[in-house]
Amino acid sequence: MDRRNILKAFSISGFVALGSGSVMRQLFSNSAENSSVVDAANLETLEPASIGKLPDKLAELVEEQTAATDYHEVSAPQRLENQVADLQAEIEAAKSDPHVKDYMQKIRYFEGVFEDDYFVDAAEFKLISQTLARMNKVQRTIGHGNFNLISFDQMIKYGRNFSQVGEFSKVEMEYLEQLFFSDAKRYGFYGEKVMNGLTDRVASKDLLKVPKTGNYLFKGKSIQLYETLRRDVGEDIVLTSGVRSTVKQMYLYLSKVVQAEGNMSKASRSLAPPGYSYHAIGDFDVGKVGFGYQNFTSDFAETDVYKKLQDLGYISIRYTNDNKFGVRYEPWHIQVV
Ligand SMILES: [Zn+2]
Repeated sequence: MDRRNILKAFSISGFVALGSGSVMRQLFSNSAENSSVVDAANLETLEPASIGKLPDKLAELVEEQTAATDYHEVSAPQRLENQVADLQAEIEAAKSDPHVKDYMQKIRYFEGVFEDDYFVDAAEFKLISQTLARMNKVQRTIGHGNFNLISFDQMIKYGRNFSQVGEFSKVEMEYLEQLFFSDAKRYGFYGEKVMNGLTDRVASKDLLKVPKTGNYLFKGKSIQLYETLRRDVGEDIVLTSGVRSTVKQMYLYLSKVVQAEGNMSKASRSLAPPGYSYHAIGDFDVGKVGFGYQNFTSDFAETDVYKKLQDLGYISIRYTNDNKFGVRYEPWHIQVV
């Protein structure tokens, strides 16, 4: 089996389904270039996403590696076999833990619907749609860029002051408040809460607007990292989402809930609920210039921009393919804080 076929086999098995392609690339470039053993660190990275599927594929890999030694005089098979045995033991352990199995399945098949998903009822769905429509009017009134930063109090004020928006009703305000303060674990989101107050605002003096993106970044670490990335990766990398206020996160989250037909768990697998997003405190998303919507899909992990990012060695991805937050793999989300 040649390298491409192996990759294909992994891909078919769902092994690289969520874009762990770059890890695979590393794995196979190791095996092709050094004809030596697969780096243990890489194998560890691979293990969690592959529960249930890995043993067969690893057996194949062992075969491949063993075959390679005939041609390149490498005495690695024993070491590799040991690594495989260790991995298999870990996989078995993970399999016997229903929680691990459950959340791994969920973040891998994040678009799916699971038995214990949390759905809003019809009345709540209607209220969400109505509130969302009003928030959308605010966004249209003040513009996309400003809406990224708007605080809760400011939004309420815009409703009162602009007839084209219309005042937020008590029920709408209370709903948003309740959404903010509810525990996201009930939807299956296990991240930490990073914003404590509903009305917390991002101070504009702490921000910089990034030209041609409509997005903002915090001065200090975030902007420095972004500038370093532009220098190291090139002009092809672009900021796709920077600072987001609690209101902006509410808007994105409720839009997801509507898209998911009221399934809050499904929404939470693709987006942190309001108050839980690291975009409020420094993380940001990057993409490839001109790649549009695909920047927010696993296709991004196949781009040269992503490959360059990985090669830098100093980047951390917030939501890895084995994250404990219950969130899908997000190769575009850069961890800053
Ligand atoms: Zn993000």
